[in-house]
Amino acid sequence: MRAVVFDDYGDESVLVERNVPTPEPGPGQVRIKVSRVGVNRLDLMARTGAVGKLPLPHISGSEVAGTVEALGPFANVPMGQRVAVAPYLFCGQCESCLKGEENICLSSDILGLRSQGGYAEYVVAPGSSLVPIPDTVTDSGAAAVTLSTITAWHMLVHQVHIKPGDWVLVWAAGSGVGSAAIQIALLLGAQVIATAGSDAKLSYAMDEWGLKWGVNYRRQDVAAAVREITGKRGVDVVFEHLGADTMATSLKCLARMGTVVTCGTLTGTKAEVDLWSLFAKELRLVGSYGGTRDDLKAVLQMVEQGRIRPVIDSELALSEATSAQRRMAERGQFGKMLLCP
Ligand SMILES: [Zn+2]
Repeated sequence: MRAVVFDDYGDESVLVERNVPTPEPGPGQVRIKVSRVGVNRLDLMARTGAVGKLPLPHISGSEVAGTVEALGPFANVPMGQRVAVAPYLFCGQCESCLKGEENICLSSDILGLRSQGGYAEYVVAPGSSLVPIPDTVTDSGAAAVTLSTITAWHMLVHQVHIKPGDWVLVWAAGSGVGSAAIQIALLLGAQVIATAGSDAKLSYAMDEWGLKWGVNYRRQDVAAAVREITGKRGVDVVFEHLGADTMATSLKCLARMGTVVTCGTLTGTKAEVDLWSLFAKELRLVGSYGGTRDDLKAVLQMVEQGRIRPVIDSELALSEATSAQRRMAERGQFGKMLLCP
């Protein structure tokens, strides 16, 4: 089969498209003919070695939508079914899994991280990780929501329980997770403020999703803007995924008893926390890791109902993986870039 692989870590130039053996599904696994695969920041981190050593050559690609094409022994999935893969792979037997928290499985993996992913004509995945795609949802729409949108859903629905009227600050409206968070927070009835590095991205969020308050972080002081918008009160929740560069500001933006919920460290893993304001204002700092099959089912249902609109930047040939990753590194995209193997 055709696949985009890398044999060593490095910049985008290590990605090559070539023929590799078509993978055979093992016990409980299925082979999926990949229709669409999302380009994710995780793919860039895998390629540069930022997430540790991986089996090489490696195929990235965590956000897969396609069709069940072959079954391994004991796999119980209808052949020909259109499916999305819930990318947080799990064992089903550990303490976390038995509690239904499969996203924090003690032996967790992500499709395309230590396992081989979907930048290919075919991918093998556990049958238990598949979620059927509703008839009215396209493969592109499904692939676009399988990772960043379920992460945002898990954060806002499970980790912090957003209530109608809550003030929510979302960083980076143009990112996959940020664009999903804006839509989900609005869906839950929150008053949403979003930041972006360009006015065009903020205008899009306002026109498409009804965002009311945008802050351009390149030319505005985010904490001051939040203070002004909320009448000096601050927000109930900050949706964090940037990390070191923004964490201090995120904490500063909180109202009393407010929560920073975080799922990412794009700008670095170490941040300073003012513990005085943390306890004196009874603030909360909450972690969130990916999402579950149930999160993916819920999100696909929201897409089916038109309540979440997947944001698709572009649909590209597999051979364009290199330029797609370069564009992502330069933050040039708005929404999900999809490869079409
Ligand atoms: Zn487990």
